[in-house]
Amino acid sequence: MNYNNLKPEEERVIVHKGTERPFTGEYNNNKETGTYVCRRCNTPLYRSHDKFESHCGWPSFDDEIKGAVKHLPDADGRRIEIVCAACDAHLGHVFKGERFTQKKYKALRKFYILKIHSCLT
Ligand SMILES: [Zn+2]
Repeated sequence: MNYNNLKPEEERVIVHKGTERPFTGEYNNNKETGTYVCRRCNTPLYRSHDKFESHCGWPSFDDEIKGAVKHLPDADGRRIEIVCAACDAHLGHVFKGERFTQKKYKALRKFYILKIHSCLT
């Protein structure tokens, strides 16, 4: 599989499971239609019509493309980590309610996911 080249900040988040600050994402309030794909391997993960207003600082989705995202128990035993099913890129965490938030990098009509965060509302 060919991976995209990642910027240092992107690598910190995706490979080293870093965290980014809320309300800084380019697409937090994005309302364009399109498909949100893995920043590293381009696998489609989310669709824009599943996006909803979460008001927690990251774009949020209430559904995912079937089979595209793996849900794994986190090391702390309390959270569920989500990773790209194709390349195991770290996407963030899910809490109860199955709500997702994320930061993305956009190119053409695709939205490249940089980070998905859980959203407690
Ligand atoms: Zn991927």
